[in-house]
Amino acid sequence: MPPLGLYIHVPFCSAICHYCNFNRGLLDGPLKRRYVEAVTAEIRGAPGRFGWRTGEAAADTIFFGGGTPSLLEADEVAAVVAACRAAFDVAPDAEITLEANPESADRPFLDGIRAAGVNRLSVGVQSFRQGDLRRLGRIHDVPQARRAFADAREAGFRNLSLDLIMWLPEQTVEQWLESVDEAAGLGPEHLSLYMLELYPNAPLREAMARANWSLAPDDDAAEMYEAAMARLETAGYRQYEISNMARPGRESRHNLKYWTDGEWLGFGPGAHSTLSGARWKNVSATDEYVARASAGQPTDIERRDLTAEERWQEAVITGLRLTAGISIAATASTYGVSLDARFGAELQRFREAGLVEREGDRLRLTRRGMLMANEVLGVFI
Ligand code: SF4
Repeated sequence: MPPLGLYIHVPFCSAICHYCNFNRGLLDGPLKRRYVEAVTAEIRGAPGRFGWRTGEAAADTIFFGGGTPSLLEADEVAAVVAACRAAFDVAPDAEITLEANPESADRPFLDGIRAAGVNRLSVGVQSFRQGDLRRLGRIHDVPQARRAFADAREAGFRNLSLDLIMWLPEQTVEQWLESVDEAAGLGPEHLSLYMLELYPNAPLREAMARANWSLAPDDDAAEMYEAAMARLETAGYRQYEISNMARPGRESRHNLKYWTDGEWLGFGPGAHSTLSGARWKNVSATDEYVARASAGQPTDIERRDLTAEERWQEAVITGLRLTAGISIAATASTYGVSLDARFGAELQRFREAGLVEREGDRLRLTRRGMLMANEVLGVFI
């Protein structure tokens, strides 16, 4: 079995951002302490649930996502990493990532998690313009973002990622590119550039209506995406996935498992797992999760085996998110599905529209195709 990825979901935030649709709630100190005990119990119990000996199954990535993982205390992060190392054969050079928000990533915390083995930090900056941050409901300010980055470097982090969001209310192409330039100027190893998605009942929708804020036209959104990628390439980054760029060799090893048909176990409320062709999800509500995990009861719901059809769909849809694309021959031999036979007409149409390209055996989205990924990838479902 190839090494697993271990994902730890931390469901607490200091405030709820106006656009957020993740599984999270406001920080509750006593609940957080019980959550840490529950998640470490869930991790330590994992080998027994799968019939493995303790420490037998190999893992080479750990990822603390949220929510806001930097709301944990450093010793709580250390306890979770120790539980992973006790339950799994975690590689000595494992990539251990923690998502941090600038307001809760102070120097003692960063020193503490470095000592606990965290070696990659992903900082949720989102924008280097104060007005953008306020409109999003983020509680950090721009100087805090700069300070968190500098503190992380001083604490010894040599693998840093920054998140930015484009197409924000009232944001112009020039303003967006100012944020991109400032991010590149800091010199992180990795950048994630997301486009704002407004889910139906997002408070940001109401705020936009009240304040008369508008989004730039679609053409500007496309320009934001394409210009940012071009600038970052000039600065030495390489796009490897629709929303992700890295210096060569600094791609997120954990996230690559999601896009290359890998296997991972998720711990914590709402976390998803994929193993041996099965997929399941933990119960989402934190208090229910804590009650179940603390009592040694199963935390998973919605467990099912993926059909062969679903497995190849996933492999194609996630593989096409990567700039490397997919091997048509490998897809056919692994899943017994010939893309040409089944989707020849659609692929031809996308090629003529400049949305996909083919080079030998590889099929990939063009950058334009990445902007319209939902439409293109939708044909495979
Ligand atoms: S910090 Fe992240 S997870 Fe928390 S509310 Fe904001 S966007 Fe959502």
